[in-house]
Amino acid sequence: MNRALFLDRDGIINIDRGTYTWRQEDFILMPGILDLCETAVAQGYRLIVITNQGGIARGLYGHKDVESLHHYMASLFIKKSISFDAIYYCPHHQDFTGRCFCRKPGSMMLERAIARFGISAPHSYMLGDRQRDLDAGKYVGCQTVYIGEIDKEIKADFAFRELSDMRQHLVKGFGKLTS
Ligand SMILES: [Mg+2]
Ligand SMILES: [Zn+2]
Repeated sequence: MNRALFLDRDGIINIDRGTYTWRQEDFILMPGILDLCETAVAQGYRLIVITNQGGIARGLYGHKDVESLHHYMASLFIKKSISFDAIYYCPHHQDFTGRCFCRKPGSMMLERAIARFGISAPHSYMLGDRQRDLDAGKYVGCQTVYIGEIDKEIKADFAFRELSDMRQHLVKGFGKLTS
């Protein structure tokens, strides 16, 4: 059985600057992300990035910018011998390119990843800092994890302030899962 940690990018892997990130110098890793990923990989989770990149639809940057930023992102993780199994991004935005099925809360990126890697959604987690990330995860039957300041409006299976809290959750639960 394959499990995955599905990771939103901005606000989970790198610090969300409150605006679009496409330049390498603006890409700062979130505290605890490397340790969390290291633990998850050791427990057999696949690491799959699921990110909305509506800045492409807005014309702020292009596919090449996203791909080179993701190459840089991978280089930061490979130093710790961590690699992503896949990175999915949605380049659309409803106001510019019309509706699509991939932009979160749409679930198509998750569905593609689940099919491609034969993942069991109930044994997997979707981590996000926005409700739309969690809604996409919920739709496909993943456990949903909110990371951020505690917010009563957020609906998630788990809510943690820090990525290190999620890491602790994995450590405590390891061995309890039945496959
Ligand atoms: Mg985010
Ligand atoms: Zn899309």
